[in-house]
Amino acid sequence: MAKTTEPVKMKLRKGDTVRVIAGKDLGKEGAIMRVIPKQNKVIVDGVNVAKKHQKPTRATQQGGIIDKDMPLHASNVAIVCGKCGPTRIGFKIDGETKTRVCKKCGGEL
Ligand SMILES: [Zn+2]
Repeated sequence: MAKTTEPVKMKLRKGDTVRVIAGKDLGKEGAIMRVIPKQNKVIVDGVNVAKKHQKPTRATQQGGIIDKDMPLHASNVAIVCGKCGPTRIGFKIDGETKTRVCKKCGGEL
C-alpha cells in the first residue's frame, strides 16, 4: 500500500516538452529545464523569460541584460504528446512499474 503521508509527486519531469496553457506566454512550447516540487513549479526553456540587469562581477567579467527563465506553475503548462499535442498525464500501472501515458491516446509519454 502506498503511504498516504507521501508528498504529492509532480507528474512533470525534467526534459518533458510542455505547452503553456495560461498566462502571457500562452501557446509557447519548450522543454522543462527544472522542476521545483515544493512550489509545484517548473522552469521551461525560453518561456516566461525575465530580463535581468546584471552588474559585472569577477565571475562573469561583464554586465548587461541577461535572460532568465522564471518558474511557471505546473498547472499553467500541459505536457505535449507526440500524437495529440497538449494533453493530460495518466498512469498505467503494470505490477511494480508505473508508466506515464497520454490520457487521449494512451501512448507512453
Ligand atoms: Zn496522445
